[in-house]
Amino acid sequence: MSLAHGRPYLAIPGPSVMPDAVLQAMHRASPNIYEGELPTMVDGLIPDLKRVARTDGHVAIYIANGHGTWEAALSNIVMPGESVLVCATGRFGHGWAEMARAMGIEVDLLEFGKQAPVDPEALKARLLEDKGQKIKAVLTVHVDTSSSIRSDIAECRRALEEAGHPALLAVDCIASLGCDRFEMDLWGADLMITASQKGLMVPPGLGFVFFNDRAAAVRAKMPRVSRYWDWSERAAPEMFYQYFGGTAPTHHLYGLRAALDLIHAEGMEAVWARHAVLARAIWAAAETWGEDGPLRLNVADPAHRSHAVTALRLGAPHGARLRAWTAEQAGVTLGIGLGMSEEGDPKGEGFFRFGHMGHVNAHMILGLLGTVEAGLAALAVPHGAGGVSAAARVIAEG
Ligand SMILES: *Cc1c(COP(=O)(O)O)cnc(C)c1O
Repeated sequence: MSLAHGRPYLAIPGPSVMPDAVLQAMHRASPNIYEGELPTMVDGLIPDLKRVARTDGHVAIYIANGHGTWEAALSNIVMPGESVLVCATGRFGHGWAEMARAMGIEVDLLEFGKQAPVDPEALKARLLEDKGQKIKAVLTVHVDTSSSIRSDIAECRRALEEAGHPALLAVDCIASLGCDRFEMDLWGADLMITASQKGLMVPPGLGFVFFNDRAAAVRAKMPRVSRYWDWSERAAPEMFYQYFGGTAPTHHLYGLRAALDLIHAEGMEAVWARHAVLARAIWAAAETWGEDGPLRLNVADPAHRSHAVTALRLGAPHGARLRAWTAEQAGVTLGIGLGMSEEGDPKGEGFFRFGHMGHVNAHMILGLLGTVEAGLAALAVPHGAGGVSAAARVIAEG
C-alpha cells in the first residue's frame, strides 16, 4: 500500500513549489511580443525585481538557468587570461570556478570545505598577497545549496575594503534570493546572480544578473563581450526585444509577475521571517532526532545555516533509502546529497536535503517533518523521539 496519493510536495532545493497564482498566470495564449500588454508588464517588473534584490542598480535578464548566469556575469567583467578569486563553501562554488576556467579565466581557489562559511580574515589575507592587484573579481556563493552553508557577504565586502583591493564582489544568490535576507547595496555586492526556479517560485528558464555602476564601469572597459551575454542593452533597452536579446520568455514573465506580486504583498521582511521560523522548526526536529541516532545537520552553527535549504547526514545507505521511502509512501520528494561524497560513501548517499524555499508554509514543513519521522521509524533508523513536537513548538512560538 502507498499513502502517496494526494498533492505531492517536491521538497528539493529547486525547482521549488510553484504557487497556483504562478501556474494560472502562465496558462494563457501567446501574447504579442512587439507591443501591447507584455512590454508594459515587463517595464513594471524591473523595479519589483530590484526590490527583491535590495538594489538601486541594474538588472539584465537572460533565457538561461543558473549556470547561464555564471557565464553571463563573468563574460561582462573578466577576459580570458585575467584572474578571479573563488571562495568555495560547497559544490556550487566549485561549479562557478569550473565555469570560469572553461572560459580561459585564471582561477585562484579559496577552499573553506563543506561545513564552514567564508572566513573573511582568510579572504583578506589572500587579497593582501595579490600585490599587483591582478584579481578582477571575488566570486562568492551566499548560500551553497549542496552544503546549506550561508556566508556573510557584508563581511566579505569588509575584507575587500580592509585589504584595499579594487576587485569586484560578485555573489551567487541563486538559492538564497527571496528566502535568506540579502541586501545587495547595503552589504556592498557589486554583482549578484539569481535564477527563477528557487525563491522566485517560477519554472527554471530565467536568469538574472544584477550589477552596480562599479561593475558597469568594468564592463565599459572590456575590449569585447560575447553578444548574447552582454548585459548593456538588456539592462537599458531602447526596444522591447533588447531586454532578452531576441524573443521574450513570454510565459515565464507572466509567472514572474504573479510571483513578485505574492512576494511584495507579503513584504520582504515577512518573507525572510517566514523562512527563518520554518528553518528553525526543521533544525529543532533534526536536532531532536539526532539525540538518539545518526542524523546530523551538516552545519553545526545555526548562524551559518541557510533558511532556504538544509543538508543532513544520515549515513549511507540510509539517506537514499529514506528518500525512496518518503517519495513512494508519502508523496514527499527530498533532495539528494550533492557533492557530499565521503570515505566509504562515494556517491554521497548518506546525505539528503530539504528544500524550503519560496512557496512553503508551516503546514507543509510540519508535513515534511512528520513524513521524515515516519520514514525513520519505518526503516528502523534509530532517532530521538519528539522531533515533530519540537518543530511544532518553534512554529507555535513563531
Ligand atoms: C541551483 C543553483 C545553481 C545552479 O542553477 P541551475 O539553474 O541548476 O543552473 C547555482 N548556484 C546555486 C547556489 C544554486 O542553488
